[in-house]
Amino acid sequence: MKSHQDVSKMYINGQWVAAKNQATFPVYNPANGEKIGDVADGDRDDAQKAIHAAQEAFGPWSGRTAYARSKYLYTAYQVMMDRKEHLAQVMTREQGKPLKASRGEIQYGADFLLWYAEEAKRIYGETIPAPRSDQRFIVLRQPVGVVAAITPWNYPMSMITRKVAPALAAGCTIVLKPAEATPLCAVEIFKIFENAGIPGGVVNLVTALNPVPIGEAFTTHPMVRKITFTGSTQVGKILAKKAADQVKRVSLELGGHAPFIVFEDADPVYAAKGAVLVKFLNTGQACISPNRIFVHQSIIEPFIEEFKSRVSKMRAGSGFEDGVSIGPLVNDAAVQKVEGQVTDAVDQGATLICGGRRLTDDNLDKGFFYAPTILGDVTPEMLIYREETFGPVAPIIAFDSEKEVLDMANDTHYGLAAYVYTKSLSRAMRMFEALRFGIVGINDINPTAAAAPFGGIKESGIGREGGREGIAEYLETKLGGFSV
Ligand code: NAD
Repeated sequence: MKSHQDVSKMYINGQWVAAKNQATFPVYNPANGEKIGDVADGDRDDAQKAIHAAQEAFGPWSGRTAYARSKYLYTAYQVMMDRKEHLAQVMTREQGKPLKASRGEIQYGADFLLWYAEEAKRIYGETIPAPRSDQRFIVLRQPVGVVAAITPWNYPMSMITRKVAPALAAGCTIVLKPAEATPLCAVEIFKIFENAGIPGGVVNLVTALNPVPIGEAFTTHPMVRKITFTGSTQVGKILAKKAADQVKRVSLELGGHAPFIVFEDADPVYAAKGAVLVKFLNTGQACISPNRIFVHQSIIEPFIEEFKSRVSKMRAGSGFEDGVSIGPLVNDAAVQKVEGQVTDAVDQGATLICGGRRLTDDNLDKGFFYAPTILGDVTPEMLIYREETFGPVAPIIAFDSEKEVLDMANDTHYGLAAYVYTKSLSRAMRMFEALRFGIVGINDINPTAAAAPFGGIKESGIGREGGREGIAEYLETKLGGFSV
């Protein structure tokens, strides 16, 4: 393990480098507040240097065959799998999620390297019948150019590979800024790219405590042709507005407010099991986390009974301890946001079924822990009904009819994930078609995989990651018209 004196550097043009002004910033373990490292604190100059390196590397990289690019990604996949346990330890220490969940994320992250190693070889063009007999149309798909990426802390490794793998497969080069809470996870991923032999300048890492100047450099530098961002809707809007000045391509994976709907024909025990698993995944810090759990009036009692019984068995603590399923929140502001939403709901008449407090026993006060919480009788006036929580709070709402619940579910400016539990095939299909969300899980709490298009509609984002769609985000379409 690193000593506290070590500084993790940035990776620019194939070299590990300090920030131009030599600045660094500390990184802390959110479970106990301990400092776990120092990281280079880059600024606008460092970002520009990385953009230039990516521009230099673009010609040679995009000029390689798809087979050559594929090979690098495949090697990176193998290196990532070889380091799975080490990576999981780094992630749990820096982000806080239980070790088992970290291992799961590393597999998910590696899957993108493997999937896009394969997809690199399937960037097909087209010929189109022309209206004139002496004319031919040919369509090429070409890489957009230099990509600038910004990633969040909640899935600190997989959100990086989900962007880098398709960008490289398409022939783009990339500069990435990870979240300031989890730069060490990013450094580990870039070591994999280095060890896979990916040429200098193709992948570049700029770490910074203050994201604003880096975002400015990304959105204003003319060499950057594409911005890809995963994070909050608020920041996504800022970046999209700035990127519009140069009409840069933009992909945004933003916040969510997932409805989880349990119909009267579903098994309430089975549905409650699924709801608990997905609600408390990553301590609720997931963009696909259910934020309103709608349960049919006729089965709400057995549903809540099972839900509560499962929640009461959950243990919070360090992700390194056996049996822990609730890790810390990312920082104190996150705990305060959760506290604010719970207080507001209870003040407006919600029933606190369990939890509803910070956890401070057994040294948990050194980290950012909040008890897994269930709220009943939640109504549309409450903040939690509209705002993303990003914490371990499950608001439960009763409903009477399919039409009523569909209207309530769609009544949000978010549109990322939704879940439906029903045994009726017709109802499942009706809901799948009518829910205004990019991802719908039908009796399925994990509708995600590297091979499947992930993303939102409305204010949850633009574009898709994963699947065939994921590589298209990094490709331009070029039409050739030939007179023969
Ligand atoms: P955030 O928007 O605060 O931060 C995300 C990233 O943006 C970080 O790297 C941060 O440093 C950077 N950033 C913040 N302000 C910036 C600015 N002005 N200019 C440039 N960069 C800036 O979000 P967060 O709290 O880190 O992540 C949580 C959010 O991410 C939630 O809303 C969640 O739903 C969303 N998320 C979405 C997906 C998805 O695929 N749709 C996946 C994971 C997380």
